Amino acid sequence: MKLNDTTLLKTNALIDGEWVSSDTNDVLPVKNPATGDIIAEVAKSSANQTKMAIDASADAMEDWKNLPAKARANLLRTWFELMITNQEDLAKIMTAEQGKTLAESRGEIAYGAAFIEWFGEQAKRIDGDIIPGPSKDKRIVCIKQPVGVVAAITPWNFPNAMIARKAAPALAAGCSIVIKPASETPLSALAMGELSMRAGIPKGVINILAGNSSEIGAEMTSNPIVRKLTFTGSTEIGKLLEAQCASTMKKTSMELGGNAPFIVFEDADIDAAVAGAMISKYRNAGQTCVCSNRILLHDAIYDEFLEKFLTATRELTIGNGAEDHISIGPLINEKAVRDVDKLVQASVRSGAELICGGSPHPLGGCFYQPTILNEVSSEMPVFRNEIFGPVAPLVRFSSEAEAISLANDTEFGLAAYFYTRDVGRVWRVSEALDYGIVGINEGIISNEMAPFGGMKESGSGREGSKYGVDDYLEIKYILMGGLDR
Ligand code: NAP
Repeated sequence: MKLNDTTLLKTNALIDGEWVSSDTNDVLPVKNPATGDIIAEVAKSSANQTKMAIDASADAMEDWKNLPAKARANLLRTWFELMITNQEDLAKIMTAEQGKTLAESRGEIAYGAAFIEWFGEQAKRIDGDIIPGPSKDKRIVCIKQPVGVVAAITPWNFPNAMIARKAAPALAAGCSIVIKPASETPLSALAMGELSMRAGIPKGVINILAGNSSEIGAEMTSNPIVRKLTFTGSTEIGKLLEAQCASTMKKTSMELGGNAPFIVFEDADIDAAVAGAMISKYRNAGQTCVCSNRILLHDAIYDEFLEKFLTATRELTIGNGAEDHISIGPLINEKAVRDVDKLVQASVRSGAELICGGSPHPLGGCFYQPTILNEVSSEMPVFRNEIFGPVAPLVRFSSEAEAISLANDTEFGLAAYFYTRDVGRVWRVSEALDYGIVGINEGIISNEMAPFGGMKESGSGREGSKYGVDDYLEIKYILMGGLDR
């Protein structure tokens, strides 16, 4: 990886400010998906170590929540600055374990760091209310307090930002946190932990451990000290964790799967729509929860869009994301290649026309060819499932009502996109889409100032924005009486 600072490469768990090896002497191999090489072996933590981390978190929170907000803000600011100073090394680590191109990794580090900067600033704005009382001698006071110890479980597709979006608001609110990153990408998480220690965030406030997900997850969800679980990952695992949290009635936030429609109306700027579809479809090799999953095209512009989109798709370069001029890296593992290919083959068998790609890339390993499927219908597997690969299904529609109905025909409700130049349509369609996020004439919608989150089976809660800290707070109502005596 040729890091400037090799001490960022940590392989033990971070518990109570110490780097701790596995208590069962078990390790997790971390593979570079572009080369198949094992790049590190990370300590695999047990349920027992998870419990130790939760206990350490509870102890650390006593002082952390009582620090003035400004002091917490300053520490978050220092952590943010260290992430930016070490952007290049963090990006190299990410590309090596996750596969996305170096340019995308650099972008993700800046994006993740921005949440730490933002929530540091917001720490000073967690204020309450004084509400007129029910009678002359009473006032209602609302204060906000940290919810308690937070447990976070995160996915491999954004190994830095998905942690930053949870840890930063938790710390801003005065909570401490125990984080379990995905088994494919623990190195990015541990490097963030190292920088948090260098920033001076007190020991035990941030704990990070990798390992068997069901074992760690069971401890996190059943331990009564944990008062909140924040999860980003698949809807299937989200439902399981939500059920597990019910026994101790934890607060939860669930950032789950998507099935984003990308609608191009007949009045759209087609070049802009093609550019937006390229970035929204192929970013991170199609492995984002907000990737366009279904490209819905009006009859009148269908052929023009297809021709331009095909030309742009043919220009993509596939390979190891650590090399220059690569636009798409590998998928996360070989199972992902098989899953994507199964969806493509099943859709072709049910009548979709293959325009390009349609099989694993000749490079082999975890690489899959950018693929366009034509004349896809709502019964086909690529329409109904989250693809999580570089596959673009094109769907035809002939009216605004039909486009909205096709777009909403899914149990998911995370992100949707549409292209139009009609201001009336902008409002009608935005309001009719059952999605938590709507991008109009834009293929990239995420930033730290905006609330990110889904409706329906895409989950609950919002990350980022002024709302993002609410998920880590309890509102306490205090009735003050006897004020006229
Ligand atoms: P996943 O299989 O659900 O895994 C996500 C995390 O959950 C990983 O840390 C995984 O650990 C852990 N996990 C798996 N089984 C568990 C269990 N039984 N108990 C506790 N933890 C468990 O999802 P993924 O394949 O990594 O990520 C892709 C999914 O994330 C997609 O559906 C995508 O849409 C969604 N996503 C959503 C958002 C959003 O903001 N809405 C953002 C990014 C991704 P191991 O790795 O150790 O198995």
